[in-house]
Amino acid sequence: MQRRPLIAGNWKMHTTLTEARALAEAVARSAADVEGRDVMIAPPFTALAEVSLALRGSTVQLAAQNVCWVEQGAFTGEISPVMLSSLGCGAAIVGHSERRHIFGESDALINKRIKGAMALGVMPLFCVGETLEERDGGNTFLVLESQLRLGLADIVCNDPARLIVAYEPVWAIGTGKTATTGQAQEAHAFIRDILASLFEKSVAGQIRILYGGSVNSDNVDILMAEPDVDGALVGGASLKPESFHRIIHFQGKTA
Ligand code: PEP
Repeated sequence: MQRRPLIAGNWKMHTTLTEARALAEAVARSAADVEGRDVMIAPPFTALAEVSLALRGSTVQLAAQNVCWVEQGAFTGEISPVMLSSLGCGAAIVGHSERRHIFGESDALINKRIKGAMALGVMPLFCVGETLEERDGGNTFLVLESQLRLGLADIVCNDPARLIVAYEPVWAIGTGKTATTGQAQEAHAFIRDILASLFEKSVAGQIRILYGGSVNSDNVDILMAEPDVDGALVGGASLKPESFHRIIHFQGKTA
């Protein structure tokens, strides 16, 4: 079964409105000739409406960098799935390591966000990953399993198009240290096994698992060559139009 590759750019807390518009237009131009793979960008909340307009007529998909679990209410500082949908934004990153480690988001909170987003029609891009200490302590798989089981607790997923998982080793995010292809493949295969224990095997086999952590134009081809690496979640390099152009034109698989 072939999974359609996805390259997603996470702009984090970067870009003014003007910069966001220009960057989105550059991505739309870059993606114009891309076939057999998906391209997505996640600007900051402040730029979502503007970027949505800039992407009109393009195949580039729009994602938010987080999402609340309810439709509306007294949740100061939060953005609901319904608000995102109204902008043409159909996906949201959830559980990014910066949310977990800087803002203290727990597995239970992440689970709420994933559940609410799925129920209200926004596709979560659910991030998991171990710290360097956890890897060095031999606990990578324990950590991944725990984050997956807690983050996806009580979630029914019959449609693989409604969920994306990203393996993002914390030690590789923004550090210039990329996981080796072997480390990435091993973790992705493990994640797929856990997904198969939670959902129907055929569904787990179709859920896309992205790798994130210092992906750039030089390493994207070898990472994408691994059988269980279905795409990339790209931080720093997604802010540079030439780098992101090369990344979305990675050599290899399409579907
Ligand atoms: C990220 O923000 O998810 C990420 C992987 O960042 P970077 O590519 O800069 O390591």
